[in-house]
Amino acid sequence: MSLENLWAGWRSEYIAEATARERSGALTHDVESCVFCRLAGSGAPSEDNLVVWRGECAFVVMNAYPYASGHLLVMPVRHVDALGELAPGESAALWSAVQDSVAALEAAYQPDGLNVGANLGRAAGAGLPAHVHFHVLPRWSGDTNFMSSVAGTRVMPETLAQAWKKVSGAWPT
Ligand SMILES: [Zn+2]
Repeated sequence: MSLENLWAGWRSEYIAEATARERSGALTHDVESCVFCRLAGSGAPSEDNLVVWRGECAFVVMNAYPYASGHLLVMPVRHVDALGELAPGESAALWSAVQDSVAALEAAYQPDGLNVGANLGRAAGAGLPAHVHFHVLPRWSGDTNFMSSVAGTRVMPETLAQAWKKVSGAWPT
């Protein structure tokens, strides 16, 4: 089984479980079954966990379902479902990680532009609304717009492992 499949399997299992719980009216704030919390505790950044950078309050990981090469997810270590629940130090760490992500993607891919954004809540398109996260992805003139690119899966010209190597190598020090 490839790393991508292993990672993706985790996520789809989580989504199926979370959706079932939500439909049954149960709480979806279960840290135990949160794939992002598992990633938060998955050890040092490596090609295996696809974590690019890890700090005390925030970390950055390759998106298992990228809309573009180099698509990153930036999130707090702590399991919170609203931006307002972040402490000032956590917000600062999160934003600093977003800035570093932009710098790394600019250096690694020389894109024409980037998207930085968050889907807050399932109605806004979040697959994992229980753990706040930002998307950071490179864009090129002439590629599809953000709304259509987030709506479907696209064929990527490089593997997640290749993208991890490229972004990790370009991470600001
Ligand atoms: Zn979580």
